[in-house]
Amino acid sequence: MEDHKNISFESMCVHAGIDEYEFGSVVPPIYQTSTFKFKSAQHGAALFAGEGKGHIYTRMSNPTIEAMEDSVAALEGGAKALGCASGMAAINVVFATFLSAGDHVLCSQAVYGPTNTLLRTVYTRFGVEVSFVDTSDLNAVKEAMRPETKLVYIETPGNPTLAISDLGEIVKIAHEGGAKVCVDNTFMSPALQKPFEFGADVVVHSMTKFLNGHADVVAGIIVVKEPSDYSPLKKVLNQTGGVIDPFNSFLVHRGIKTLALRMERHCENAQKVAEFLEKHDLIQSVTYPGLRSHPHYFTGLKQHKGHGGMITFHLKGGYDAGEIMMNSVKLCQLAVSLGGVETLIQHPASMTHFSMGPDARKEAGIDEGMVRLSVGIEHYKDIIKDLEAALYEVGEALTVKQEKNLFR
Ligand SMILES: *Cc1c(COP(=O)(O)O)cnc(C)c1O
Repeated sequence: MEDHKNISFESMCVHAGIDEYEFGSVVPPIYQTSTFKFKSAQHGAALFAGEGKGHIYTRMSNPTIEAMEDSVAALEGGAKALGCASGMAAINVVFATFLSAGDHVLCSQAVYGPTNTLLRTVYTRFGVEVSFVDTSDLNAVKEAMRPETKLVYIETPGNPTLAISDLGEIVKIAHEGGAKVCVDNTFMSPALQKPFEFGADVVVHSMTKFLNGHADVVAGIIVVKEPSDYSPLKKVLNQTGGVIDPFNSFLVHRGIKTLALRMERHCENAQKVAEFLEKHDLIQSVTYPGLRSHPHYFTGLKQHKGHGGMITFHLKGGYDAGEIMMNSVKLCQLAVSLGGVETLIQHPASMTHFSMGPDARKEAGIDEGMVRLSVGIEHYKDIIKDLEAALYEVGEALTVKQEKNLFR
């Protein structure tokens, strides 16, 4: 393998994790096998004792999976990575490894819906105390720290409000209090944001999103900065079993080769779409980290290289307008998930953040008329044309509704 420290990020996307293979194969072969033959009893015994090279069983390790893990670890600038069955499997392994009964976890309020639900409904049953905090407010973070705080879990930009939390400052507060910091870097990807540069201890990703980038795989990953954090996480992953499989690993590794290119286009397109939406009469407000109107614009500039592909906006006419808009788009696909080459549109209150319930949503700043857009890599003019046509439909329908007084 090459020394990836000396090549640029773009080249790393193409080459990281790629080794020499049989027959001169340029890409890692797919070792679609559950188990591996030992050369002898002694070889098997040595592998179980953790000595010598080789694999035992795919839940424990597999060469195709390792190649992808090495690639993501290099891209994030971490020591090691652990591929998981999904982003949620990765997040669960982090919680199960670092939290015990009596511990406290401080979590961003603007967080992926199921992460909120997992902490609130499962980990509290096991005696873990949970605080959801607006982590874009450093004083709120300081105040929420307790002696029992073992983990500070940050999503930035947060889901779906795109609130930006200051990673460097939060790491200082957390480490002073003896807590580890885990960052969900799904929205930015290592092409735009590298939490380890700001002192974070662990990074998780839903690789379902930008890392794979093609909406054809569900997968996750945990990356550690220090080698010492690897072994405890690996044990919990191995015991709980939420591992990625070789074929999905292969697909993700293939997707990563174009990560730098794709992220560039996602950012360029999203900037243009956000500027278009901001000027439109039917839009109440647009949140995009690349707009000067974003409340944490300058925090973003400190820690990410590009503003990403995610836009949140609020339509005049609330829930009704959102419903009409989503039924009117054609190029933009009405679907949850994000980070793929195709533009996706969805309604958090009835979809991704439904499980939080209305009270938690309100607290997290998710109003009923919010729409989330994952801007793809199509030509930006086509995306804008589609949104413009859908907004025209919204305008027409709202006029009719107003005349007939049909608002909910
Ligand atoms: C999608 C997502 C997850 C969960 O990942 P899955 O692969 O769906 O399990 C976690 N965090 C963020 C920010 C996400 O967007």
